[in-house]
Amino acid sequence: MSDKRIALITGANKGIGFETARLLGREGMTVLVGARAPERGEKAAAELAGEGIDARFVRLDVTDEDTARDAAAWIGAEFGRLDVLVNNAGIAPAEASVAPSELSVAALRTTYETNVFGVVAVTNAMLPLLRRADAARVVNVSSELGSLTLLSDPDSVYYPVNLLAYNSSKTALNGVTLAYAKELAGAGIKVNAANPGYTATDLNAHTGIQTAEQAARLVLPLALLPEDGPSGGFFQGVRPLPW
Ligand code: NDP
Repeated sequence: MSDKRIALITGANKGIGFETARLLGREGMTVLVGARAPERGEKAAAELAGEGIDARFVRLDVTDEDTARDAAAWIGAEFGRLDVLVNNAGIAPAEASVAPSELSVAALRTTYETNVFGVVAVTNAMLPLLRRADAARVVNVSSELGSLTLLSDPDSVYYPVNLLAYNSSKTALNGVTLAYAKELAGAGIKVNAANPGYTATDLNAHTGIQTAEQAARLVLPLALLPEDGPSGGFFQGVRPLPW
């Protein structure tokens, strides 16, 4: 078995996922670049490898349970365990970014398939490998737009952002995070939700106010939590956020 820690990042071919893979690679981990499109995943892994990072592409479409199963089988055969899982893949499709009264159930379902159900599918596929690690960490990349406290506070800057599909998918993801944290508390596996902050990526046509690297720096601490670190929380970096 490899002495290096092994980290899988979903949706790691670009954006915050790519930068998270890069930072974890710089920490000395073997990074598994999860991507649904082989050409994009291979290219991203090659770019990281070119910087001296131990990076490998893994085909993983989070909406396709077969690919999650196959990825887990390959990781098990290759490394025998998984130390860090970053559930980063997420979408905010244009057809779902409309007023609630105009939202189709199909667009809502599409959003949940990736942002919620995909996280459950990948986590369940990877759990046997995470259980084989000494102190595994799971980070679910959520959003401040999933915080019911912030969205319901008229004084919050997030109050006007009324995206039923995206926001509620991240609220659901926070619930998913808590459920796994409770189940895995006795197994030494810490599960937390990370808010990377409003970031210039393809997800929002680069309207965000920070770089993907700055966002990844806010995800990183939860992937590197020490033994006495929290589980079942919602954080921006190390700062707790309200649910
Ligand atoms: P990007 O659109 O830049 O990247 C999203 C990544 O997810 C891409 O690699 C994309 O792959 C991948 N992806 C989408 N669907 C799937 C799928 N079915 N299977 C596997 N991979 C998939 O967005 P960001 O980097 O901004 O977003 C990363 C995470 O951060 C998301 O969960 C997002 O909700 C969250 N977030 C982002 C914020 C922001 O301001 N940008 C703020 C708060 C949270 P492909 O290239 O194939 O489409």
